[in-house]
Amino acid sequence: MLHEIVIVGGGFGGVRVAKILARWRENTHITVIDKSRYHTFYPNLYEVATAHLPEVFGHLPIDFVNLKSSAIYQLEDIFLNDLNVTVLESEVLGVDFKKHKVALKNLMTLHYDILVLGAGSETNYFNISGMEEKALPLKNFFDALAVRNAIDEAFLNLPKNHLIKIVIGGGGFTGCEFAGELIGYMKKLSQIHGRPEYYAECTIVEAADTLLGSASAWVQKKARARLEKLGVKFNFKNPIKDVHDHEIVLQDGSKIPYDVLIWTAGVKAGGLTKSLLGVKFEKGLCLALDKNLRVLPYENVFGVGDMTYCIDESTGKSLPMTASVALREAKCAAENVKRLIFKNSLKTYKPRNAGFIIPLGGKYALLESHGIRIPGIIPWALKHLVVLHYWAGILGWQKAFGLWRKSLEVYIKND
Ligand SMILES: Cc1cc2nc3c(=O)[nH]c(=O)nc-3n(C[C@H](O)[C@H](O)[C@H](O)COP(=O)(O)OP(=O)(O)OC[C@H]3O[C@@H](n4cnc5c(N)ncnc54)[C@H](O)[C@@H]3O)c2cc1C
Repeated sequence: MLHEIVIVGGGFGGVRVAKILARWRENTHITVIDKSRYHTFYPNLYEVATAHLPEVFGHLPIDFVNLKSSAIYQLEDIFLNDLNVTVLESEVLGVDFKKHKVALKNLMTLHYDILVLGAGSETNYFNISGMEEKALPLKNFFDALAVRNAIDEAFLNLPKNHLIKIVIGGGGFTGCEFAGELIGYMKKLSQIHGRPEYYAECTIVEAADTLLGSASAWVQKKARARLEKLGVKFNFKNPIKDVHDHEIVLQDGSKIPYDVLIWTAGVKAGGLTKSLLGVKFEKGLCLALDKNLRVLPYENVFGVGDMTYCIDESTGKSLPMTASVALREAKCAAENVKRLIFKNSLKTYKPRNAGFIIPLGGKYALLESHGIRIPGIIPWALKHLVVLHYWAGILGWQKAFGLWRKSLEVYIKND
């Protein structure tokens, strides 16, 4: 009997589940549904948003092609050689868990025997008045291009005696990575447009009293020192209350003017969860899972990644919304899909904190993993090797190496 496995979301979690099951080649057919044609590699978006591609000065547009494929890759191409996988570009509107049917935007429905939900997250504006209308998010490739273009245009169009102010809402991982890289981009744009370098500044506005609230004190201190050295300014303990044209108002009533405002301060479970009837939710609209990563209360539905809520029993805290968590969950969910088909007992998911690398401008990053702490160029190089390893896992080494080498050329030019 052929088992129909439907995976909603071709992101980190969904693609990893599909790749593992595709290699398995038992009596299964896998359908990966995504509303976008592309798989997005989010950790490179800050590079896209700060990439200097001097197209107007006659350089080859190939730089843009390389930049694009370092951050987004066609899902069809990822599964080109997987004959038991079908990729469907469509938005999932809902799921009938009783009839085992997924409803798609084009009025089609799709039957599943086993369903994996991995539809990710979306930008959370926390109902801050004016934020969604005025600020630029950094949540997909096109957001990253919009950010890059807005900054480019500010340098091109604003008078040379105007101090350009770029404000980043949120001093979390995305905000810090972006700020570090932005400083180099601002310097380049100042040179190109004949502006004094000190006539442009970048400020992080953070509601808490520290950067990188979820990281250790060592990471927080090092990251702040690094960004300060690069020239980033900070505003702590004063959340943004209102956003107007070219001005944000903080909780204490003070105002900060901006030319470009980028919002990186939060994500929440994606819009699909709102239309999932009968499932159990935790922490807003995150899907509650059992210890085998099944979406409660359904036995043939698994959940992975940002749209789910999972507790690390060793710390009692919920797992962060990161690619590494989504990938680990995907490995366990794929294994449990197989076990479910063979009617074997399911594997218990054991969350663990593998640590992280945070790049902070130029060839500098911080690594913290299993008690090891390294600042400098080594973690920066390691991050790029991790990226290569990721692409190799879904494209094979040959394709991945070509793509990785070309994108590194663009990034290094920017560094
Ligand atoms: C700028 C940025 C930088 C980041 N950097 C890092 C980092 O350095 N390290 C790290 O570990 N994590 C990082 N993250 C977090 C990481 O990207 C996410 O945690 C990860 O992508 C979650 O994987 P996922 O599979 O749950 O969702 P995603 O990878 O977001 O995939 C979800 C997919 O579902 C699709 N989808 C959504 N709704 C529907 C629908 N209704 N129908 C059909 N398809 C749908 C989307 O198009 C998307 O392709 C970063 C995130 C951002 C935004």
